[in-house]
Amino acid sequence: MNTQHPMPALFLGHGNPMNAIETTRFSKTWELLGQRLSRPRAILSISAHWETQGTWVTAMDTPRTLHDFGNFPKALFDMQYPAKGDPELARQVQSLLAPHEVELDFNWGLDHGTWCLLSRMYPDAGIPVVQLSLNRGLTVQQHYEIGKQLAPLRKQEVLILGSGNIVHNLGAMSPAPGEKPYDWALAFDEAIKERLLAGDHPAILDYESLGEIARLSVPTPEHFLPLIYIAALQGDRETVMFPVEGMDLKAISMRSVQISSDI
Ligand code: ZN
Repeated sequence: MNTQHPMPALFLGHGNPMNAIETTRFSKTWELLGQRLSRPRAILSISAHWETQGTWVTAMDTPRTLHDFGNFPKALFDMQYPAKGDPELARQVQSLLAPHEVELDFNWGLDHGTWCLLSRMYPDAGIPVVQLSLNRGLTVQQHYEIGKQLAPLRKQEVLILGSGNIVHNLGAMSPAPGEKPYDWALAFDEAIKERLLAGDHPAILDYESLGEIARLSVPTPEHFLPLIYIAALQGDRETVMFPVEGMDLKAISMRSVQISSDI
């Protein structure tokens, strides 16, 4: 079924997994987004927490809830997000990305990059969810090209969700409350914000040219790459909004990015 307007495409900064079970200004906004957006028929999630050799898409009927983190309270390990899969959507992703090879996966499931967000956005778990992996062998430009090829799904009521963090430096983060974010973290987050607002995608792909602030903010690419998929989905006349802004734990940007045409 085609809708008149494509579904928005969303990048959400997921940050601390505790946001899934605590009421924070971040998790409250995710709840509002779930209520405000028109309800999708399926969700395709590109999470920082599924990096693979080759490109994979989850194709099982009932994906399990993965607790892919270490030292957190039992309440977080007890969380289940029993959304169904959507094998037909998985096969559609496979054909949309051809000739790029995409393998069907029956082992992964929903990692915390996906369910921490969706358990707040859609607590009924009533929307089928498929995950697309981050292929470690691709360049940033290749990730961008794959993102573009997913665009037709937006007209089929599929919400494409990128889950990561624009600034993500676990080594530098600090749990002490009230500490000011690092200057380099604020500077990098602001630089990416400006490039998004300008629609300057080549400059986003070329983030490493920002030098030291990029090296500190993106020490490894996996939390940044989901943003590349969402930026790639921006059509000519579509707007960029930031439903969430701000830093957490000194070194994690919680900025979220919404691409939409319905204004
Ligand atoms: Zn993460």
